[in-house]
Amino acid sequence: MVLAQLGGSISRALQQMSNATIIDEKVLSECLNEISRALLQADVQFKMVRDMQSNIKRIVNLDDLAAGHNKRRIIQQAIFNELCKMLDPGKPSFTPKKGKTSVIMFVGLQGSGKTTTCTKYAYYHQKKGWKPALVCADTFRAGAFDQLKQNATKAKIPFYGSYTESDPVKIAVEGVDRFKQENCDLIIVDTSGRHKQEAALFEEMRQVSEATKPDLVIFVMDSSIGQAAFDQAQAFKQSVAVGAVIVTKMDGHAKGGGALSAVAATKSPVIFIGTGEHMDEFEVFDVKPFVSRLLG
Ligand code: GDP
Repeated sequence: MVLAQLGGSISRALQQMSNATIIDEKVLSECLNEISRALLQADVQFKMVRDMQSNIKRIVNLDDLAAGHNKRRIIQQAIFNELCKMLDPGKPSFTPKKGKTSVIMFVGLQGSGKTTTCTKYAYYHQKKGWKPALVCADTFRAGAFDQLKQNATKAKIPFYGSYTESDPVKIAVEGVDRFKQENCDLIIVDTSGRHKQEAALFEEMRQVSEATKPDLVIFVMDSSIGQAAFDQAQAFKQSVAVGAVIVTKMDGHAKGGGALSAVAATKSPVIFIGTGEHMDEFEVFDVKPFVSRLLG
């Protein structure tokens, strides 16, 4: 189910509830079942949906609400809060400061959009007056350096990488050192991906992270991976200290559910979303406007 459909289904469920003359337990249950179905179809993890449903039932105690209360509004508010809670891990991620050097390491599976997202992230900050730089520590995928080089050149962002060196840790350290000397304030390290979650990938990530001591590790996740999102995000979190999530490919047939699962699995906020292949198809992610849009 694409995001717009999810929003449509949720607001339809709320509308049906408001059309009922009396809002009793049965009407509330039907509404919550409808919303749960929509969330499951959008690939939100089953346990999260079940928890949301029981939380709302606990918060909205219809017996305690006097006749004068606007039950519809109270229920709507509870649903809004629960959805926000799913997307808000409770603490903000590390925020780099302009003019002060930060090292940001990107991790994710091959094809998730990691390399594209590194450039988007750099470009976004460059437009705001930062001095970003890109380091290609992906020695696994043939062509990774060329891709990063091409993107970086297009955006006029300094980059570092090698066609011959096969040790990602060495390249990462050299690149970070060089850009620290050049007083770059946002040093972005693109790491290797793999087609699936493999021990070798996680070991490499751990080594790059230990050697470069990033201020923030960003997990990049393809929004179309569906119910696999929770396990994948958790596996990355167990290997390196993921502190933020960027969800890509939210354009087209995007499902919103994966984002909610990734937040739950990593206990880290979504900070940006990718909405296309182009450099500027990149948006800051804000929980409340996102949920408001879903509820219509
Ligand atoms: P990596 O293997 O994780 O580094 O992935 P890439 O950055 O090479 O991206 C894989 C493919 O996804 C490329 O064709 C990108 O153009 C595409 N891509 C990346 N981000 C987005 C996005 O937000 N929307 C769309 N539609 N495509 C994207």
